[in-house]
Amino acid sequence: MPEGDTIHRSAASLRRWLVGREITGARTQVASLALDRVIGQTVDDVEARGKHLLMRLTPSGRVLHSHMRMTGSWHVYPAGQPWRRPARQARLVLECGDHVAVCFNAPVIELLKDGGELLHPSLSKLGPDILDDQLDVHGIRTRAKARDPEVSLGELLLDQRVVSGVGNIWRCEALYAERLNPWTPRAAITDDQWDALVSTAARLMRASARGTMADRPVAQVHRRAGRPCPRCGTRIEARQQGDLARTAYWCPTCQPPA
Ligand SMILES: [Zn+2]
Repeated sequence: MPEGDTIHRSAASLRRWLVGREITGARTQVASLALDRVIGQTVDDVEARGKHLLMRLTPSGRVLHSHMRMTGSWHVYPAGQPWRRPARQARLVLECGDHVAVCFNAPVIELLKDGGELLHPSLSKLGPDILDDQLDVHGIRTRAKARDPEVSLGELLLDQRVVSGVGNIWRCEALYAERLNPWTPRAAITDDQWDALVSTAARLMRASARGTMADRPVAQVHRRAGRPCPRCGTRIEARQQGDLARTAYWCPTCQPPA
């Protein structure tokens, strides 16, 4: 699943090539998308919010909203260059002069009215973005405490209504860094521990979003089931967690049950 850091990188790439440019042509597999409201508009901004990507159009003020879920991605190519994915997976193609932006496999692509995100069923409920420049630690804590106190830390970090943009890799790595067990209920840790967990997830994801390949953080436990913990040598465990059934990875020695 693309995490917030991947989507922020896509948004940065789209911004670099598309902002200020007019959409000169478009094709889509999404029957409900009114391309006549897209063609002729200029890309005003591109914003990542959790796993959602918002492309703001001017002068209409409409917002092209795509949600990546497990499979989606945006690529930008110079016009005429071959794509890295098959054309049949392209759900939306935007031509902007000498560049083309392609949205592959995103399950949700829709055009919202000016201000429509405030009424949107999932966008309007999103928690603060983990990659916001000013991390809203207080807002995230308030939202976490409003949920069932027995909900596990592993599930809370993936709950987009609490904090948006954290995916499976960085929730596992943040819990490992903070030596917290994924099944620990939220009520069993202090506010300071929760804030530290959120701040660590943000720090790791920021490094992953901005870093070059050489200095991006490396996963210590994610997808390392059965291999030795880098800190203590105990075998890393893995088990599916919560309604989303995402696999949690943890070191049973460094991250003992609460
Ligand atoms: Zn360990």
